[in-house]
Amino acid sequence: MKEELLKKYENIMQTKDICVGDGWVPLVEQALRLAEDYTSRGNIIRFLQVKEKFAALCIHISGKFTENEVASKFYKEMGEIYIAASKTCEKCGSTENVKIDDSAYWVKTLCPSCTENRKQERKTRQNVLP
Ligand SMILES: [Zn+2]
Repeated sequence: MKEELLKKYENIMQTKDICVGDGWVPLVEQALRLAEDYTSRGNIIRFLQVKEKFAALCIHISGKFTENEVASKFYKEMGEIYIAASKTCEKCGSTENVKIDDSAYWVKTLCPSCTENRKQERKTRQNVLP
């Protein structure tokens, strides 16, 4: 899925990696479709980095727009995708009771079931001898 996106949107993606969980990949695709739509109307948009940072979807963008209003509209629509990510489990894509799991030092946006799995995985790791 990530490989396909990198290939399909190679004109926009200036990075070789999409560093987010599978649950957010559809939102990254939505962002790429949006960028492609604006690009087809004379704007130049490049994604320099796509990652998760402090439990949030983070896309570093370089953009040159035909007009300031066009830029404002684009970034507003991107904002809606970021907000959607904050309500979507990064691991499985569920939107049910999604919260920021801050039980480990690395915070993540997860649904209750993925939060539980993450806790179990941590426990298992702690039981393994070094
Ligand atoms: Zn989940």
